[in-house]
Amino acid sequence: MQHSNSLADRAARAVQRARVSSDDLARSTPTRRHRHRGRLTRLAACLLGVDPADVVVIDDPNRSYGGYAGFVITVHDGDNVYRFTPDLGDDSTLHLLRPCRRCGHQVTTAVITSLIDLGRVLDGTGEQSLSSDQFTDDPAHADDCPSLRT
Ligand SMILES: [Zn+2]
Repeated sequence: MQHSNSLADRAARAVQRARVSSDDLARSTPTRRHRHRGRLTRLAACLLGVDPADVVVIDDPNRSYGGYAGFVITVHDGDNVYRFTPDLGDDSTLHLLRPCRRCGHQVTTAVITSLIDLGRVLDGTGEQSLSSDQFTDDPAHADDCPSLRT
């Protein structure tokens, strides 16, 4: 689908994507989490070279840290959608979410620090070397998934 590139049209597309993702997201006020979502939107847009209008950051339904929900970053790319979570210790790194080969749930699979990393994961050459250290501890695995460290 071809999109207009005017600022107003891109902003409208960003709002529409936010509304589809979460009613709360489209109404949120500039709280600390709101600003954090903004930083993660900028990180994904910059790191992946995509339009910020194609990035939506929502609360993570599966991962929480210190009593607070984590974040899921969704990047719309035409008919494809990519999802990421931010690295907890490095605010310039993302973890690619993909289906676990054993349980099928969306889990952290690869460390993404650049578009090169994503390209290597997608073409299969970086799948092992860029594997996420959070994979075996990801609470999004099915409870009985053999990949989940117990
Ligand atoms: Zn699994």
